[in-house]
Amino acid sequence: MRLILLGAPGAGKGTVAKLLTEFDGSVQISTGDILRSAVKEGTALGKKAKDYMDRGDLVPDSLIMEIMEARLQEPDCQKGFILDGFPRTIPQAEDLAKLLAKLNIKLDFVANLDVPRDVILDRLTTRRTCSNPTCQAIYNIKSNPPKEDGTCTLCDHQTIQRDDETEEAITNRLETYNLKTAPLIGFYGKIGMLKTFLSLSSKDTVADIKKALKA
Ligand code: ADP
Ligand code: ZN
Repeated sequence: MRLILLGAPGAGKGTVAKLLTEFDGSVQISTGDILRSAVKEGTALGKKAKDYMDRGDLVPDSLIMEIMEARLQEPDCQKGFILDGFPRTIPQAEDLAKLLAKLNIKLDFVANLDVPRDVILDRLTTRRTCSNPTCQAIYNIKSNPPKEDGTCTLCDHQTIQRDDETEEAITNRLETYNLKTAPLIGFYGKIGMLKTFLSLSSKDTVADIKKALKA
């Protein structure tokens, strides 16, 4: 499958993407995960991105396009890919369209995960992420907690609250989403590529997306 997942922070893009990869071997490409690894490793990219990310601001489009142009040409993308957190702005979407045309790649559709705002807020403040960069499992202290001592059930590393999950950064991320990313709903709707899924449970959403892929 070749999909874009669209949705506010906390809409469950990461969880849905992971479940979809188990289905047909498509790879999940999360620009957020790529950037967080770069920050952790202290690479040049990470140094450029860190301050934007900690504030909950978007990283400049040019940096993101550099990452994605290289990433989409890696061999593991041949089987398919699920874009999680990209594109995030109209310029990114326009550049992606050019890049896909150049690489002769056609998308199935853009899946817009629609989640009520109160659900989003609750999810973001209760989210914990495994600190192991190769795991990054996502937990929720209410509905899907890590082990009692706060460690990951999959790899035993400590789970943490991300720097951009303070209340201030969360508010900023949601505002940034409304301002910069939500316009993509219209962008993809106009060209007939958008499918919207009311998304309260990741499992149901995955089932709905699979159905839409077959149709
Ligand atoms: P969420 O969707 O939960 O906000 P992500 O993990 O997708 O988080 O992204 C974390 C941060 O990484 C964003 O707040 C932003 O600073 C940066 N980022 C990720 N993807 C992009 C992108 N496509 N364009 C610009 N910045 C991005
Ligand atoms: Zn883990």
